Amino acid sequence: MNALDRVINDLVIANRILAKEDVVDAYGHVSIRHPDNPKRFFLARSLAPELITKDDIIEHDLESQPVKDTRQPYLERFIHGAIFESRPDVMAVVHAHAEDTLPFGIANGTPLRPVIHSGSFIGAHVPVWDIADRFGDTNLLVANVEQGRDLAKTLGSNNVALMRGHGFAAAGRSLIEVVRMSVYLPRNARALSRARDLGGDITYLRQGEIDARNRGYSPYSPETWRAWEYWANKCGCGHMVTKPDTEKK
Ligand code: MN
Repeated sequence: MNALDRVINDLVIANRILAKEDVVDAYGHVSIRHPDNPKRFFLARSLAPELITKDDIIEHDLESQPVKDTRQPYLERFIHGAIFESRPDVMAVVHAHAEDTLPFGIANGTPLRPVIHSGSFIGAHVPVWDIADRFGDTNLLVANVEQGRDLAKTLGSNNVALMRGHGFAAAGRSLIEVVRMSVYLPRNARALSRARDLGGDITYLRQGEIDARNRGYSPYSPETWRAWEYWANKCGCGHMVTKPDTEKK
């Protein structure tokens, strides 16, 4: 399998995993940067992630326009192009509406922060982007390049931005990382919400703990790969999982 085929194959798996893990439903999407051209990325046509196959994947440019493809693209594809444009280090992006994250986008003064070890990858600071700040009354969807860039600006160098009344955008150094982050982000949010319900002070992960978990991260490390294999198998894509030869240990 060549690099491009692998990227498309893995993007299909990522779509299916995010659907199976209830991160996305009919809505939400995941993209990956082109392995040979950093000014391009791959994202499915407008279709529920659970239904996506490799033939549904479309190449887009950084203004989020499909390249040589006339099929219906996602309305909110601008989230992806803008983040890839502003963050050369980012290789994959997820946008979703996972319910457990939503309270933290609307309860002012209650930041979402890592509280469980698997939530450490969301990073110490999760900013909230409010589309109304610059664009007033909209339908809340990121429907053009300008709105995408404004979201990317709020994301800054962080891994995740919440979108007020809407969902989140997550950016990762690899597809496996962004999927992992997107699966554990709602779980971390749920743990934090429940802890708040119990009352008392919350003990967040310490910066040193977050740093310790990030140190030496690799998408092909045994522990990360184990999760990818597990999730892929669970969503019926076990037969599609392949590890790049150079990364085999
Ligand atoms: Mn959306």
